[in-house]
Amino acid sequence: MLPQLAIRGLRTIAPRCLWKFLWNFGVKGALSVERFKRRIRRGEYFPPFLYLSIINSCNLRCQGCWVDVDRERELIDLESLNRLIKDAQRQGNSFFGILGGEPFMHPGLLDLLAAHRGCYFQIFTNGQFITADIAQRLRQLGNSTPLISIEGREITSDLRRGKRDVFNKTLRGLDHCLKAGLPTGVATSLCQSNIEELLTESWLRELVKRGVHYAWYHTYRPVGPQMHPELALSPEQIARARRFVVEMRGRVPIAIIDAYYDHRGQALCPMSTGASHHINPGGEVEPCPIIQFAVENIRDPRGASVAIRDSAFLRDFRQLSAQATRGCVVLERPDLVKALVAKHGARDTTRRGTALAELDAMTPRSSQWLPDAEIPEQHWLYWLAKKFWFNDFGAYQPAPPPGTTRALPAAEAPASPREPRPPLVTADE
Ligand code: SF4
Repeated sequence: MLPQLAIRGLRTIAPRCLWKFLWNFGVKGALSVERFKRRIRRGEYFPPFLYLSIINSCNLRCQGCWVDVDRERELIDLESLNRLIKDAQRQGNSFFGILGGEPFMHPGLLDLLAAHRGCYFQIFTNGQFITADIAQRLRQLGNSTPLISIEGREITSDLRRGKRDVFNKTLRGLDHCLKAGLPTGVATSLCQSNIEELLTESWLRELVKRGVHYAWYHTYRPVGPQMHPELALSPEQIARARRFVVEMRGRVPIAIIDAYYDHRGQALCPMSTGASHHINPGGEVEPCPIIQFAVENIRDPRGASVAIRDSAFLRDFRQLSAQATRGCVVLERPDLVKALVAKHGARDTTRRGTALAELDAMTPRSSQWLPDAEIPEQHWLYWLAKKFWFNDFGAYQPAPPPGTTRALPAAEAPASPREPRPPLVTADE
């Protein structure tokens, strides 16, 4: 599989884009994780991967979307974005996830990429604003990869995304990226309405035939103002998706990303490990995209990196969610999320102002942590990459005692490790 994938990459990705992917993302990305590991040993946390939702606006209305897409436009201005990225670069970071809403609706997106040629950006997009000209501009810059979301074929896509002709409009943007020689991915949020259509070898081979370089299967999170809990996967389906991904990595010449399992197949939460945190369109520093509460903002006079490093709110979230589960604390323990928000007096970062009520409305459910169904990586490259650069970074062992490093505020002892977990509902209950 790997030689085929490598040859396909060499043949279809523009040389500048390939170089920037290998150097800015590959080499500098790995070095940023090594710096992160050294920070952890000092008891200091600043994530190597920051996810920036640069704008709330979007042309689609997806089921289960937690972003205020229908509210007045809110975006992070270019000056604040440039300052944040420079600050993160001083911590050794080079990779940034760019999200929305729809990032290509931000008027300064291309200028942002142009301002940081030494960095690498993964742009989470529905692809519908990517014209041939924009794709050519991305090629010239070379420092980004569009990750295009496809939630089903024609009928399912329209249903899932609340608009007409979504699938074809998205495919047009995808084809512009591939014609321009951009390293391009397709992401799917697996749920009841698309798992049979898209969690198949034939779909992956269709993507390969189209020229797509990598795929990412997220699992649907029933959160936000319209949660659609009926779309959530059952534990059996989550285990099936994990098994499928591991098997297809050795069989189909397409790279498959995941952010929820280490090389042993043990579940993890990128927020709990400290590997990533999220910035919303208001510049609010959130533990992750679906935890819409914050204490810090990137416009903090101390600078974003200090604000993030010294955040008691983020520290408590990492520690307590890691003690509660290896999975998703939002799905499994919305009560814990609520307690932490209250403890720190964190702001509801949504424009709709209903994030707390949404937590109250949630029913605890299972997530990626299925202790009896762990499936280790079978392909050596994924095993190695995760072993060294994407694992739990020791988050699920007792953390070093507070005060072993410089300037960290005294931490309160967590309530009680591994509190007994409330009974979980499965999808069909
Ligand atoms: S809390 Fe849940 S959604 Fe957020 S990073 Fe962790 S696993 Fe993902």
